[in-house]
Amino acid sequence: IQNITVALIGNPNTGKTSVFNQLTGLNQQVGNYPGITVEKKLGFSKLPNNIKANILDLPGTYSLNASSIDENVVIELLLNKNDKLYPDVAVVVTDVENLKRNLLLFTQIKDLEIPTILVINMTDRMKPKGITLDIPYLEEQLKTKIVLVSTRKGIGIEELKKQIVEYKSLSTEPCLNASVIDVEYFDKLRKAFPNQLLYKLWLVITQDVNFLNLDRNEIRSSFTKSHSDLKRLQQKETIKRYQFINETLKIGQKIDTANATDLRSKLDKVLTHKIFGYAIFFGILLLIFQS
Ligand code: GDP
Ligand code: MG
Repeated sequence: IQNITVALIGNPNTGKTSVFNQLTGLNQQVGNYPGITVEKKLGFSKLPNNIKANILDLPGTYSLNASSIDENVVIELLLNKNDKLYPDVAVVVTDVENLKRNLLLFTQIKDLEIPTILVINMTDRMKPKGITLDIPYLEEQLKTKIVLVSTRKGIGIEELKKQIVEYKSLSTEPCLNASVIDVEYFDKLRKAFPNQLLYKLWLVITQDVNFLNLDRNEIRSSFTKSHSDLKRLQQKETIKRYQFINETLKIGQKIDTANATDLRSKLDKVLTHKIFGYAIFFGILLLIFQS
């Protein structure tokens, strides 16, 4: 019997707790609003091939940049390889309707070079929203295994378990390499910290986290740049990541609103139609004059 640790990571409201419940058979509270999971929750799952997994349900976080308490819980865990709950696998949970925003965090996790699985959840919403995905293309671009899940319909959890069991064959390759990320920015980091874990140190400097008990001020002063310049570089990094994500989704994701079947999409279509716009406008005028 082998024991591994799996961390569920993702933006708030992507269905992490729902996935957690289905993996563990537990019944944590599922929220309609962000932030219901304020600290990491631990459960267990018996996987195929005699593998037992600790499953960690982490607080929702938008990126590894901001420094809310929730995000620090995630950052601290991912930066500390000595933590007994340091994950063997990071399962990044995303919502198919918010892929663009959700993938920012995914690319950052990927760059930490942890074996990663991308769960695209809420796939029951794909047909109603007219969304189609080119999974082989996305897997190639993002250098990851993708598992399509709908916790609502109970789809994809067995496949996810199978992929977790195969964690040793998962890619640890970053999906944005130096040619995509600002070269100048990387050069600065490289010069300041030869042979170091660049990204992790970057986090130490810009976040309020401190693993390895490094002296943050010492590190910071070894940069000639002021802190606000560092923040600017971090913003540049986010822009680069979104450029990459946009390019990837432009080919890997189609949203055909004409084929959307849900009521809201239909309503949106009707409301954007000019004639209906005018009709509503005059309708309101009529109401005002009548009263
Ligand atoms: P967390 O914040 O990431 O832990 O997300 P939760 O598990 O609390 O779920 C957030 C919301 O998404 C809840 O209202 C869930 O009912 C809903 N949800 C979760 N999974 C699915 C799914 O597969 N399909 C749909 N349509 N909604 C889902
Ligand atoms: Mg939750």
